[in-house]
Amino acid sequence: TATTKRATWNGVGILKDGHRVKVLGNVGSPADAAAAAASGAEGVGLFRTEFCFLDASDEPSVEEQTAAYAAVLAPFAGKPVVVRTLDAGADKPLAFLSPDPEPNPALGVRGLRVAFDRPEVLDRQLAAIAAAAAQTGADVSVMAPMVALASEAAWFVERARAAGIARAGVMVEVPAAALAAREILQVVDFVSIGTNDLAQYVFAADRQLGGVAALNDPWQPPLLRLIALVGEAGVALGKPVGVCGEAAADPLLACVLIGLGITSLSMNHTALADVGAKLATSSMDLCQLAARGALAAHDPGSAKLAARAPH
Ligand code: PEP
Ligand code: MG
Repeated sequence: TATTKRATWNGVGILKDGHRVKVLGNVGSPADAAAAAASGAEGVGLFRTEFCFLDASDEPSVEEQTAAYAAVLAPFAGKPVVVRTLDAGADKPLAFLSPDPEPNPALGVRGLRVAFDRPEVLDRQLAAIAAAAAQTGADVSVMAPMVALASEAAWFVERARAAGIARAGVMVEVPAAALAAREILQVVDFVSIGTNDLAQYVFAADRQLGGVAALNDPWQPPLLRLIALVGEAGVALGKPVGVCGEAAADPLLACVLIGLGITSLSMNHTALADVGAKLATSSMDLCQLAARGALAAHDPGSAKLAARAPH
C-alpha cells in the first residue's frame, strides 16, 4: 500500500494530497545549473549573478554579461528561472561596485542599495538578462536583493518592466521587508525569503561567525514567526512567496514552510531529492499542523520536535 512504500521523488514537487510545490535550484555558475537540472530541479529559484563576476575588476559589458547569464540559463529552456540582480557588498564584494570602506558592511550600501546610486549599472544588467532570456528561451523573472521598503521594490519593478522583463520580485531578507510584506506584495509579482540574511538581521548575529551560529539556526521560532507573516500576506494577496535560503534545504523544515504559506522552495542541488521525497510523504494538513507546532515552540529543538510529531 501507499503507506508502506518508500517514497521516491520523480522531480515534480507534489504533496501526497496532490498539492503542488515548486522545488527549485540555487545556482551561481553553469556547473551549478547543470547539476540542478540533472537533479530534477523544476527550475531555478535563485541565480546569484554576483558569483559570475567575483574576479572582474571592471564592470562586464552587456555582451559579456549576456553570455555569462545565457550559459547558466541554457539547461532551463521553457522553465522558470529567477535571476537575482547583483548582490554586491558585505560578504560578496565586487571590485567594480565596491562602496567606500564602511564600518559595518552588512548594514551598508549593498544589494539593491548600490543601484540607487548607480542605476545605469542595474539597467545594463537588466538588458543583459532580457537578452539571455530571449537567447535561451528560459522563462525568466528578476529579483532584487536587500530590499527594505515597498517604495524600493516599486522602483526596481519599474526598471525591470522598462527592460521588457515580464515578472519582477524582491527578496525578503531584511526584517522591515517581512513586516511590510503586504505593501511590498502589492507592487511586485512575487517575493522570495532569504532566510540566511533574514536570520542574521533579526538576531543581530553575523551569518559568517561561528560564535553566534546558534542564533542563526533556521528553526528559531522568532524567525519562523517572521516567515509566517510573509506567507500569510502571500496567501491573502494570492501572490507566490518562495524561500531560497538554507532553511529550504532541510526536509522537515520544508514541510513547516509549506504549512506557513510558502509556494516554492529553492536550494542547493544536493538537497533537491531529499526535500522532494519528504514533501511527497506529507500533506497540506500535516504541514499546517507542523507549522502551528513549530511557531508555538520556545526554542529550535522543541520547534523541530513539534514539527516531527504529525509526520
Ligand atoms: C539569503 O540571504 O538567504 C540568500 C538566499 O541570499 P544570499 O545567501 O546570497 O545572501
Ligand atoms: Mg541574502
